[in-house]
Amino acid sequence: MSRPVSSNLRHLKSLFRQYYSTGCLEEPAYIHKREIGVQLLGETTYRRHLSFPSMTMLYKFIIENPPLHLYYSSAYYDDPSAKDMGAKGWHGSDLLFDIDADHYQGCNSTITFCTRCGKSFEGTYKQCPSCGSTNVIAYPLINFDCIKRAYNDAIKIKLVLKDDFGLKNIKVYFSGNRGFHVKCSDDEILDLTSDERRELAMYISLNGLEPALVFPPITKRKIVIFVSQEYGIRKRIFMDLDHKDLLRRRGVLYEADYDDVLYSIEDNRVDIDTVVTMDISRLSRFGGSINGKSGLVVSSVGEQLPSSYADFSPWDGTVVIKPVVDFSGLPVLGNKLNLKTGIPIRVKTYVGIYLALKGLAKIENVERVEIRKCMMYS
Ligand SMILES: [Zn+2]
Repeated sequence: MSRPVSSNLRHLKSLFRQYYSTGCLEEPAYIHKREIGVQLLGETTYRRHLSFPSMTMLYKFIIENPPLHLYYSSAYYDDPSAKDMGAKGWHGSDLLFDIDADHYQGCNSTITFCTRCGKSFEGTYKQCPSCGSTNVIAYPLINFDCIKRAYNDAIKIKLVLKDDFGLKNIKVYFSGNRGFHVKCSDDEILDLTSDERRELAMYISLNGLEPALVFPPITKRKIVIFVSQEYGIRKRIFMDLDHKDLLRRRGVLYEADYDDVLYSIEDNRVDIDTVVTMDISRLSRFGGSINGKSGLVVSSVGEQLPSSYADFSPWDGTVVIKPVVDFSGLPVLGNKLNLKTGIPIRVKTYVGIYLALKGLAKIENVERVEIRKCMMYS
C-alpha cells in the first residue's frame, strides 16, 4: 500500500479475512519445510522466518492477521524458522522464473499523483513538481495486452522446460499484479546450484547466445542448414522459421537465410529476471493469495489466459468510494473512471479495492460484496 488511507484498513482487513476464510490457498508441497513470509495489513515491514506445521495453522494465523502479501520459500529447510539463513539446513529449492510486464516497450508508463495539491503528472516523480510535497503516489498504467505478452513469455519458458529438459511439474501463475511466475518442482531440479539455475535461465532466454556458434552460416550467401530432426535451441528456431515459412527444402535438408535466423532469435528471446531464478532462498507468492498491490488473486493459468483483470478478482458486487484525487478518465484495471476528490461514486468491488490499495480512494461502503469460488485457471 503506497499511501494507505487509514480508514480503509478496517474494510480491507474485513474483505481480505472473508476471502481467506474460503480456504482458496494452494498448499505447497511440504509446507512444514517452507519459510513463510508475510506483510500484514496495516504494517509496513515484512515478517520473515515464520513456519507452520500445516495449512490449518497457517489459516488460523492469517484469518486473525490478514496479510497484504503472503509468501513461502522456494526452498525446503530442516528448520525454516531459524533466523540465520545458514542455520536453516537447506535441502533443495523449486525452480522459479519471473516475468514482469513492465519490461516491455509501452508497458511501463505511470502517473504521479500529489495528495497535497491534488495535481497529477505523467511519469514518476519522488516529489511533486508543482508544490514540492513528497506525498506522491506513483500509479502504474499497464493495459491487459502487456499482461498477455508476459503470459506468452511464461508459456515459452514452460515449453522449453518440458520439451528440452523433460520436466513435468511446471505451473504458470499470474502474479496478481503485472507479471507471471513459472514454478517447477520436479525432483531433478531441486538441488541445482545458483550457477546452474543461471545457465538454465540463459539457455531459455537466449541471452548471451552467440548465433554463429549454434547456427554457423555456410557459403557466401549466408545460409543456415537444418535437418528435419533438430534438438534444443536449434529446434526452437527451426520450428519458428517453419511456422513463418522461412525454410526452403533442399532434398533431406532445409535452409534458411542467416538474417532470418538472427531475426528469429531476437523474436524468441524471453526477458527473464535471472536474479530471481538464481536465488535459492527466494520467497514467492502463495497460489490463491491476494496480491496487496492490486487486490487480485495469484492464480495458476493453463492453455488459455482469462480475458480481463476482472477474472482475477475474488469479489463480486459494488462498493462506494470517495476519491482523494481529481482525474478524468483514469484507467483502472480495464475501466475508465472520472474521479473527483470527496465525491462518492459506486464502482465494481475490485476497482474500489484497487484504488484503495493504491491510496487514491477511501472505501465508504461495502454492503453489496460477495466472494466468488476459488479461482484457478489450470
Ligand atoms: Zn503537489
